[in-house]
Amino acid sequence: MIDSFISAEIPSPSADPLGYALVAEHMVHGPCGSSNPSCPCMKKGMCSKFYPKAYEEQTSVDANGFAVYKRPKNNFYVEKGGCQLDNRWIVPYNSFLLKKYQAHINVEWCNKTTFIKYLFKYVTKGADCSKVYLQRVRNGEDAPYDGETRTVNEIREYLDCRYICEQDACWRIFGYDIHRHFPAVERMPVHLPNENFITFKARAKMDNILSQEFLRRTMLTQWFWVNQRYADARELTYIQFPSKWKWESDSRKWMRRRQNQGKIGRLHYVHPSAGERYYLRLLLLSVKGARSFEDLRSHRGVQYATYKEACTSHGLVGDDQEWYNAFTEAASWATAPQLRRLFVTMVLYCDIGNELAFFEKYWTYLAEDFEYRYRKIIGSTQYQMPDIDKRDYLLAELTDLFAKGGSNIGRFNLPCPSQRA
Ligand SMILES: [Zn+2]
Repeated sequence: MIDSFISAEIPSPSADPLGYALVAEHMVHGPCGSSNPSCPCMKKGMCSKFYPKAYEEQTSVDANGFAVYKRPKNNFYVEKGGCQLDNRWIVPYNSFLLKKYQAHINVEWCNKTTFIKYLFKYVTKGADCSKVYLQRVRNGEDAPYDGETRTVNEIREYLDCRYICEQDACWRIFGYDIHRHFPAVERMPVHLPNENFITFKARAKMDNILSQEFLRRTMLTQWFWVNQRYADARELTYIQFPSKWKWESDSRKWMRRRQNQGKIGRLHYVHPSAGERYYLRLLLLSVKGARSFEDLRSHRGVQYATYKEACTSHGLVGDDQEWYNAFTEAASWATAPQLRRLFVTMVLYCDIGNELAFFEKYWTYLAEDFEYRYRKIIGSTQYQMPDIDKRDYLLAELTDLFAKGGSNIGRFNLPCPSQRA
């Protein structure tokens, strides 16, 4: 499957001369290492991209879900920088794209259940930066230098700007899309009565704001309102609502959709330590047709005083199941350091019944980044960290986090680090 799209091999010069020439020109890494220590990829005496790679007879997928491409040991090589570079030095490419665009295009296979992290954590890494020095010279004035105090004004000396390359700038100036979302997603607020957010101008009068019924309307309160009036609306949970109803933000009303193309609803994330708002969100995920906050808290004819009790009645909490659900949801998008902090917060503040079972269920997510970090330190992509080491590193980090939270890991039923020397 991977081989039909991606190759890391030198094409045969006789069977595919164009492919050979293009790979030789665009897709060979290096030479770096001892034959060229000044290559830009060299960091701390090693190639930061881990070339040369090892020979591989077959393409495979390693334990972390990364593809290891086929790089057979054969007689094909490319001459570059006075070296003969073979399949170990080829940057993975797609033959069709390479021939069409005749440029360096690195193509890699990525597919994991959590690959959304791979795609979007790259996006959120931030834009390119460059250090630029600005100086006003027209009036002979040296801008960042303050003559009175005779100090360099460091704040005026540097601007924190985003660097956009020429191609990127053109793309944006012509207004092309950077990315596309389909189907559309409606983000929906989760708030307790009278705790909705409102935006107002700085000089607005507080009395005016508070007296306006319009400003109290939110997607949530208007969902109740529609449920009070229309029987068919009650077939849907809050999160399903945008599939059949359309939110008009100017009038703050839900309108029945005429076309079939609905949106997907997504509730704002609520941290498990938020208390009642957290339980409110749990109810909103499963209760259909509620007509008021009180109605949402009612189940089988009983109106409960708190959202937590209502969740218990619905069977949404108990046996730590709600914490497992919360953690599973977070694990699909949060990074390992974020998950470690969440784990510690939940153990400290959420009354988890069985901490050890909770740890055992999720420790692999909490330790997800250790092998990668260790590989970077020792400069090997092959190193497989044994589970026992991962757990020890994890417990050491958790010990720190508990201490920073003003507690002690020893107070909880969690494993001890292994007793190895
Ligand atoms: Zn290199």
